[in-house]
Amino acid sequence: MIRNRFAKTWVDLVQTSRGWDYRPALAALEQSQWLPREQVEQQNLAKLRDLLTYCHARVPFYRDAMKQSGFEPGDLRSFADINALPIISKTDLRAGYDRFEAAGESPPYDVWASSGSTGEPFFFRLDRRSISANTFAALARGRRWWGMDFGVREGMIWSGLSDLTGTASGRFAALKRRVSWSLKNISMVDVYMLDDAAIAQGYKTFLHTRPRMLRTIASGLLRFCTGLERLGLDGKKLGIEAAIYTGEGLTRTQRDRIESVLGCPTVTEYGCTELGIIAFECPDHGLHVSHDNLLIEFLVNGRQAMPGEQAELVITNLNEWTHPLLRYKIGDFAAPSAKTCACGRTLPLIEELGGRVHDSIRTPQGRMIHGLFFTHLFDRLPEVAQFRVIQRRLDSLDIEIVVPGASAEKVKRSVEKTICDSLGETMSLVVRIVDSLPVAASGKTRWIVSELKE
Ligand SMILES: [Zn+2]
Repeated sequence: MIRNRFAKTWVDLVQTSRGWDYRPALAALEQSQWLPREQVEQQNLAKLRDLLTYCHARVPFYRDAMKQSGFEPGDLRSFADINALPIISKTDLRAGYDRFEAAGESPPYDVWASSGSTGEPFFFRLDRRSISANTFAALARGRRWWGMDFGVREGMIWSGLSDLTGTASGRFAALKRRVSWSLKNISMVDVYMLDDAAIAQGYKTFLHTRPRMLRTIASGLLRFCTGLERLGLDGKKLGIEAAIYTGEGLTRTQRDRIESVLGCPTVTEYGCTELGIIAFECPDHGLHVSHDNLLIEFLVNGRQAMPGEQAELVITNLNEWTHPLLRYKIGDFAAPSAKTCACGRTLPLIEELGGRVHDSIRTPQGRMIHGLFFTHLFDRLPEVAQFRVIQRRLDSLDIEIVVPGASAEKVKRSVEKTICDSLGETMSLVVRIVDSLPVAASGKTRWIVSELKE
């Protein structure tokens, strides 16, 4: 208990010293999650009007865009009015990030790298208000839904444990991170090194440190749990109460498998570097969006999606004033939901996260096969522990599957047949059984990889 309290104090101290004191924002978020939705929307509309006025006065990209469309920030009456502004993507940011910078005195900011799915890092300048509210306060709120405030004993399966640069400063930075984690009551398992020996060692570490929760990169959590099964180690003995995963996403079958190994629920955390936490799952299985930090549009061919319809996410960050991001297309699909959650929180819900937009497969006939097709396909084949679909050429598809049981060949034939039936015979298909899948520099494993030029 004393250790928990010390760790919580340490987390708060570190955050404050870096200019990221999340506590005031957390207090506000913990109130707004219960407010009538219309009340939060009214507050958001006022925030948006201020942000647009600021962008009009100080941000070259938006000043020009507003001039072109004849839009005046004072004209804003409803959220639909921002349709007058262009939708931007990371490609636009890469092409001219400086044009998104607010002129004049900048609010305090930090530079954070995002690896992105292309593997090419992008350096975002992030307003500290966004870091405090969107990244840390929203994470703290989500964790507290599960009774897991900062400071509780925590296990992580994450990147950053070891130095990958091979330099003295890299080694020193890794050492500093390890000391800091330990003071925060976090024990780490390195997501890069998840072979059987490392999994057995990680199990021993967690048995000793008794984490109440795990926070993990999704593919690392899956690899860890299937490893425990293979090694005959009892995951339930760890006494973990919730396993939070972020990154690549998991299929329902994969989640069921992890839950049966650990004997606890899995929890979806969905976010990105530049926007912070976009959605977090509550104990009543509601995937709640951070409606109080972000304006989220679900778009299908330019119109708002119907409930349950997969749509592109376009997001405006209400707390980013250094490099404002309005109507930012992050490249993910999700379906909005019209349901309310049993937990009573008024934060809107996402029905299903559909994965990355570019993680789609194209056929020679010009059809787009959404990544979800494969997610659902492998959901029906629980023998497949992990899969990876790679499209290197328009007319061919390489599929790698990890099948721990003895039925590998049978499963392989079943995968071949199902995919051939769906895609027709115009694509050549190679299914390979592999022992494990490669981990990218970000620590994530991409399930669907398209190497085709857009
Ligand atoms: Zn809920």
